[in-house]
Amino acid sequence: MAMTTMVMTTSARSRCGCGAVKAKDATRCRACDRKASDARYAEAEAVVTTGTCPACGQALRRNLALTGWWQCSGFGAEGFRAPGASPCSFQTFTRR
Ligand SMILES: [Zn+2]
Ligand SMILES: [Zn+2]
Repeated sequence: MAMTTMVMTTSARSRCGCGAVKAKDATRCRACDRKASDARYAEAEAVVTTGTCPACGQALRRNLALTGWWQCSGFGAEGFRAPGASPCSFQTFTRR
């Protein structure tokens, strides 16, 4: 009797690490996506609350060009960064 081939077909729907069905191109399901973005925002809020860049310790400042955009005072080109600040590329986004 021929061996039954156990074909483990990958189901047409891909699944997230949590077991929920996710869109094929997404890295995770929507619930996990939401959770990850909440965590990201919480982290950003915590950083902004300190008022200090976690990368270099210089002051953070808000960039009013976009809602919730915070940058190190050393962010950007000479002339854009705060006078006397050393160059730093840290930036983060909060919800508001
Ligand atoms: Zn998930
Ligand atoms: Zn910095």
